[in-house]
Amino acid sequence: MRKNHHTHTPRCGHAVGSEREYIEAALSADYDALGFSDHSPWPRLHSPGIRMDESMLPDYVSTVKDLREEYKGRIRITCGLECEYFPDRMSWLKDTKAAYQLDYLIFGNHFDLDEETGIYFGSCRSKQDVRRYLRTTLEGFNTGMYAWLAHPDLYLRRYPEFDDACRETAREICRAAAASRIPLEYNLLGLRVQHEKGFSGLGYPYREFWEIAAEENCPVIMNVDAHDPVQLSDTTYYEMGIKNITALGLTPYDMMDNGLVQPLAV
Ligand SMILES: [Zn+2]
Ligand SMILES: [Zn+2]
Repeated sequence: MRKNHHTHTPRCGHAVGSEREYIEAALSADYDALGFSDHSPWPRLHSPGIRMDESMLPDYVSTVKDLREEYKGRIRITCGLECEYFPDRMSWLKDTKAAYQLDYLIFGNHFDLDEETGIYFGSCRSKQDVRRYLRTTLEGFNTGMYAWLAHPDLYLRRYPEFDDACRETAREICRAAAASRIPLEYNLLGLRVQHEKGFSGLGYPYREFWEIAAEENCPVIMNVDAHDPVQLSDTTYYEMGIKNITALGLTPYDMMDNGLVQPLAV
């Protein structure tokens, strides 16, 4: 049975398909676990096309939780959010997770502080940008709030070559993840883009990053990062991802019923 804990909804402004369509697509492709983790809102941040607004959060959570009841016994549905690390808003995030009884938070280190003042880490162009990605990632780990790190190699998306800054960043992220047992996400949306459109830079998942992850014995979780139900019903990249992870000798993890991430029972 397949599992995916990284699914978006149209509330973020760049995904298509209703929650029900994602669930039906997952059922059609033999998934037994589907987690919704749309891009988290942040207070005082209005970001159409990037993330949902704070006003959309109650409907997001109640929609997913109603469907969880409706589909009980057929597929395990969980409700979380994918969030950046914005130091001045972490208490809001902590309170929100508790208030809405969210199952988990994914660390998606997309932006530095916020997109009004900071850079998009998928557009790193200098060693300085790469090192800033490293620093904020390590700081995010230290909060202990995230279940895993989404697309840890996002900084390579537009970067031209795997230079010393990239190598050091990969090594340090992997060491920290291994030490704190925070899984790194092997991102299947990246794998799909790599094969279908191509990235303007090195892209992700980037092989040398994952070789370092294997050397450091990092826990790894594989997710679809679905922004369209067809990315669940079409399992081409799911199969390719399993093959790649196995070939690298990485240890696959899964999210359990208690919301914790543990080694996948084989
Ligand atoms: Zn997205
Ligand atoms: Zn995502």
